[in-house]
Amino acid sequence: MPMDALAPVATLPAWATEAIVGAGRRMDARGWVPATAGNISVRLGPDRIAITRSGTHKGYLDETSVMEVDLEGRAITPAKPSAETGLHCQLYRLLPQVGAVLHGHSVAGTVLSMRSGHAIRFENYEILKAFEGQTTHATAIDLPIFDNDQDIPRLAAAVEPAIRAGLPLGYLIRGHGVYIWANTMETALARLEGLEFLLACELERRKL
Ligand SMILES: [Zn+2]
Repeated sequence: MPMDALAPVATLPAWATEAIVGAGRRMDARGWVPATAGNISVRLGPDRIAITRSGTHKGYLDETSVMEVDLEGRAITPAKPSAETGLHCQLYRLLPQVGAVLHGHSVAGTVLSMRSGHAIRFENYEILKAFEGQTTHATAIDLPIFDNDQDIPRLAAAVEPAIRAGLPLGYLIRGHGVYIWANTMETALARLEGLEFLLACELERRKL
């Protein structure tokens, strides 16, 4: 029997699991993924991604916490994908340059989204310059808010036109959390950090 026949069906590359495990620790350290909230993914190829499995705590991930799915969210690794895998797959399908997607449930994002209409407007924050295409702090950028829905295909359909039109900051689901993406995990984490800083500032500002 050839040795290959004994190999696992789908072994995730070490760089992918390391990127996801590292992102999970960083998001947990900042308090953005309480309990088993949130999910994290990276693109493995044109039609495959690696994503955190359902029910995993993002601060304690290891290689067994990550699985492979195709861009329709169908499991390649024999495991149960998280319900929100479909929202990750949507971003990889619509935006071929996207290499990493992050989703967290922060206090600021949760609270602000419950007290805002269809968007949160950020204006005059220096950190806006950290986002692609922004060269001055004196711009107003909207973070759109979509109503939460346990029906993920229906939620994805509601978000899709905005993704196609371009979302400089990502998007927020009401009472739930943010989705942000970038070409690399490093850039996605930097953008999430920038966005969570904006949300935290805005929450403090409204309390004054
Ligand atoms: Zn969520």
